[in-house]
Amino acid sequence: MEQHEPERPELPDRVAGLRELSYDLWWAWHDHAREVFRVLDYPLWRATAHNPVKLLQLVSAERLGEVAGDPAFLHLYDSALEQLHRARTARDTWWSRRTGLGHARPIAYCSAEFALHQSLPIYAGGLGVLAGDHCKEASDLGLPLIAIGFMYPQGYFHQRLSADGWQEEHYVRLDWQDAPIERATLAHDQDCVIAVPLGNRTVLAQVWHVRLGCVQLYLLDTDLEENAPWDRELSARLYGGDREMRIQQEIVLGIGGVRAVRALGYDPILWHLNEGHAAFVVLQRIRDLIEHGTRFDQALEEVRRTTAFTTHTPVAAGHDAFPFSMVETHLAGCWGSLGESREAFLALGGYDNGQGTQFNMTALAVRSSGAINGVSELHGEVTRKMWAPLFEELGRPDPVTSVTNGMHVPSWLSVDMARLFDQYLDARWREQHDDPTVWEDVLTIPDEELWHLRQRLRRHLFTFVRERMRDRWLNQHVSPARVLSGGTLLDAGALTIGFARRFATYKRAELVFHDPARLAHILNQLKRPVQIIFAGKAHPADDPGKRALQGVYHRAVDPAYGGRVAFVDDYDLHVAHFLVQGCDVWLNNPRKPLEASGTSGMKASLNGVLNVSIGDGWWPEGYTGTNGWLIDPGESHDDPAAQDAADAEALYRLLEDQIVPAFYERDDHDVPRRWIRMVKEAIRTIAPRFSTRRMLKEYVERTYLPAIEVVTGKG
Ligand SMILES: *Cc1c(COP(=O)(O)O)cnc(C)c1O
Repeated sequence: MEQHEPERPELPDRVAGLRELSYDLWWAWHDHAREVFRVLDYPLWRATAHNPVKLLQLVSAERLGEVAGDPAFLHLYDSALEQLHRARTARDTWWSRRTGLGHARPIAYCSAEFALHQSLPIYAGGLGVLAGDHCKEASDLGLPLIAIGFMYPQGYFHQRLSADGWQEEHYVRLDWQDAPIERATLAHDQDCVIAVPLGNRTVLAQVWHVRLGCVQLYLLDTDLEENAPWDRELSARLYGGDREMRIQQEIVLGIGGVRAVRALGYDPILWHLNEGHAAFVVLQRIRDLIEHGTRFDQALEEVRRTTAFTTHTPVAAGHDAFPFSMVETHLAGCWGSLGESREAFLALGGYDNGQGTQFNMTALAVRSSGAINGVSELHGEVTRKMWAPLFEELGRPDPVTSVTNGMHVPSWLSVDMARLFDQYLDARWREQHDDPTVWEDVLTIPDEELWHLRQRLRRHLFTFVRERMRDRWLNQHVSPARVLSGGTLLDAGALTIGFARRFATYKRAELVFHDPARLAHILNQLKRPVQIIFAGKAHPADDPGKRALQGVYHRAVDPAYGGRVAFVDDYDLHVAHFLVQGCDVWLNNPRKPLEASGTSGMKASLNGVLNVSIGDGWWPEGYTGTNGWLIDPGESHDDPAAQDAADAEALYRLLEDQIVPAFYERDDHDVPRRWIRMVKEAIRTIAPRFSTRRMLKEYVERTYLPAIEVVTGKG
């Protein structure tokens, strides 16, 4: 590799630990650590989109000299560093108290994407956010988790809109020097590079290391000089290529993932596959066991006992499947001592999802996992039905449980809201936020204070949206219409609806425009204005998704809506933070039952943003009748057009009869009491139950521990 060590300004000895702090993403969810960098250089903090690694490359020696002699700064710095060290080495954790187990054998968590911070663009959407939040929570609870994924040097794309609102994808090469990522090393400081057999050749993968407190994430990267040009491209982009590319990526992730874990000296006690992408993990593991003298069926049994699988996709066609010939071509070099049982292994993936029998990654994962779960109760049921033939074949009529997704509270809660909770909730709330009783005191927060905070968060959002458009206007020379579509006419005092998610057609971004005149009437009431902010990317190959996005853009520049419809481009974690904290209402109207869970609505509720949602995904579990609204069309229709009409009608009714009146009904102090009551209910009922703390504890209790106890003979 011809990569050079980055230019790094000398750090004064007294603050030399800044580098260590910047290279542990632990700072991403600890505000006092972020405060260190904010105080160090606020303009740079803003200019780097909160990236301390970059900030430390740019900050002046003079400023570093100043802070090294500033007692207030040093106090902040010392305490952040001390807490980081404590997080890394803590032995008295929830995990150790609950299990009595140490860290000798980790749990390996495999996923094709991880969303941890905007400075590391290796995620596309909800699946990645869930994986990232899972890892952060594991660190907080002290789980011995290591995670395995892909380092995509070009990441997922940046989104721009053409003059006519058509999505354009821009890939920007990540400069690894600018991200909180280091080369994983073996003994004697050697780079960790592993070999993966692919077809009849061998591809090398460099392993990268991302620190997350006590959790370690390892990322595979094939962009090495030693590889052929097409192999260097393998890990270039997330979900960027065709089927051939996809299966090769999955082989690198699965086979390479196991090899990397072994090379680094780990002996996992359990493997957790997050979605089917990583299912080739089981191939390498079975092969390893056979190499040690185990028979195929015994090896499969052993792998099954120690593999957990989480499925996320409620549509049969959404599961990765490949023609057998393609699988055989690319797996040709992978068999080794598994060669004699090649047919038996391939049979593990065989499944006919209606388009003939193919090698299906979910079928492979199901046939080789002991624990299988869906990501909401409803999705668990859908999964049980969808794969029923497979479960029958396995003689396990009902192997699927559900563990409803959650969001990582310290990552998604606004700092200002956290301060308010510090004031009115028991101090236990930070550590025990999955305990519903600590949230009862939300009801004691004075309405005025909560309302003023909600308004402040909305203003933050508007400043963010406006400055983003100013940047596009200044630096990208976009058209005035585009500037307008970005939200420059939005009103910081008006009821604001947020809709931010991938532009997949089943999410129905355009549903709210079903009756244009009726919507225009709702938006343009002089005394009760309403506005909608959209954000989201369409998959590069999804033209219907792009057309829906363009449809939203056309509405945003349509005078009939009065500048009250906006589209914020390049949706990512950073944009998501502003939206889930600053809107008043969070709109979710997928075509049921296609949303497996959804998590953005949970993040919104945590910050007092009220959900208005179809009864799909997590919402049937979250909705209580007083903490948001259920879009209830009364009956379900087989005809999608009829369903759209019924759902839109139910949505308009809610807006007209309930949502808009409740928001604008003010008392003498201009406080919407009824609204604030619902805000408190949303926080109180949703924050604890839909946290990753509750979620991860469920994974430990239902999935990890039973498997571990079988392995260790405990219990
Ligand atoms: C939370 C989040 C998602 C997932 O949202 P859904 O509710 O599943 O649509 C996707 N992308 C980003 C950037 C997020 O923060």
